[in-house]
Amino acid sequence: MNELPSISFQKASAIKTYQEKKLADLLVYLQTHSAYYRELFRSHSIPIQNIQSIEDLSLIPPTEKEHLQMRNKEFLCVAKNKIIEYTATSGTVGSPVTVALTENDLQRLAYNEYSSFACANGTSEDIYQLMLTLDRQFMAGMAYYSGIRKLGAGVVRVGPGVPSLQWETIERLKPTAIVAVPSFIIKLIQYAEDNGIDINTSSVKKAVCIGENIRTEQLEPNILAQRITDKWNIQLFSTYASTEMQTAFTECEAGKGGHLNPELLIVELIDDNGQPVAEGEAGEVTITTLGVEGMPLLRYKTGDICKAYTQPCSCGRHTLRLSPVIGRKKQMIKYKGTTLFAPALFEIIHRIDAIKEYVVEVYSNEIGTDEVLLHLTAINELEETQNKIKAYLQARLRVTPHIKYIEPDTMQKLQFPDGVRKPVKFIDRRKNG
Ligand SMILES: [Zn+2]
Repeated sequence: MNELPSISFQKASAIKTYQEKKLADLLVYLQTHSAYYRELFRSHSIPIQNIQSIEDLSLIPPTEKEHLQMRNKEFLCVAKNKIIEYTATSGTVGSPVTVALTENDLQRLAYNEYSSFACANGTSEDIYQLMLTLDRQFMAGMAYYSGIRKLGAGVVRVGPGVPSLQWETIERLKPTAIVAVPSFIIKLIQYAEDNGIDINTSSVKKAVCIGENIRTEQLEPNILAQRITDKWNIQLFSTYASTEMQTAFTECEAGKGGHLNPELLIVELIDDNGQPVAEGEAGEVTITTLGVEGMPLLRYKTGDICKAYTQPCSCGRHTLRLSPVIGRKKQMIKYKGTTLFAPALFEIIHRIDAIKEYVVEVYSNEIGTDEVLLHLTAINELEETQNKIKAYLQARLRVTPHIKYIEPDTMQKLQFPDGVRKPVKFIDRRKNG
């Protein structure tokens, strides 16, 4: 097995000192090479030598997604001929952003995933079946691939979807682990049940779960995780990542939040005024990349709301851990006098067995407040089923959202409009402001 990245196992104070040294390097690099940040330091009269500690970061105005969208090229710090890979954000909210990577950035990305898979109990003895795309400018796909290679483990690129092919490959090549979206793992289980495949005698013992939460805010398995492990005796590891940060937070076997990779990223949780939230409070995940050459980011607001845990973990790491995403800033629904985050609504929907697929649509009504329309595909078209769904939603939400039942093929078109890589579960048709 490769040696584990050691900095994570040092004391929190040593990690902080290490990060602050890397931060000083980054500030000099940005001042020299980034048109966007040079202008930011100048217009806000920030001498970079005034930023010495992680606490000092709060003196710098955060970078918003809109800045990255509108002034994308100004973030680029290298000549065009140094760029190897052009990736793009998935566009969950807003138009996609190009993130360009140099050869060094690709090496950094491989190291990031190597260290993530190692954190999730991966070794060179493992074989990972990748149930995701490596195309469409998707950074994570190739990151997993190169990280697994660095770990010395085996890799099988099956791609997303097609449960029959996934099972046929599992039976033939005997992977020990899968990398997949949790709701797709549910589909794998359903397919196995329908086709007489005994999942618990398969070679797969663990799943690295991407793209969706598998834990509650209290770090207990959520309903999606329970539905998987009630039937399939595998260990689930949660990960949280984004294209912009070029870094992943991955759970260890303790499953107590995703570990920060301190060599690659500084993370702050901040409030609406750009100030760090109090210990234990939820705040917007704001990241500063370390060691990125092509498009480094300084205090970039991800839009994701999380909590952080700083107590040492039973795995021996002293790094900060992040909770699952409690909500996305732009997916906050003001619903009949309460505030509702989309993941909380998804969690309620996941509890209803009668719902096969769904898309949540939010729009503004005549008086400018939010309305929720659920597009649902149910297991059947019986009135009894629809009444059950309505009653359950009413009980959990106090007021029922509008519901529209649609056929599976209409649902497919709604979830997969042209060019998307992952199913759309949230459509925002609200008027801005
Ligand atoms: Zn741990």
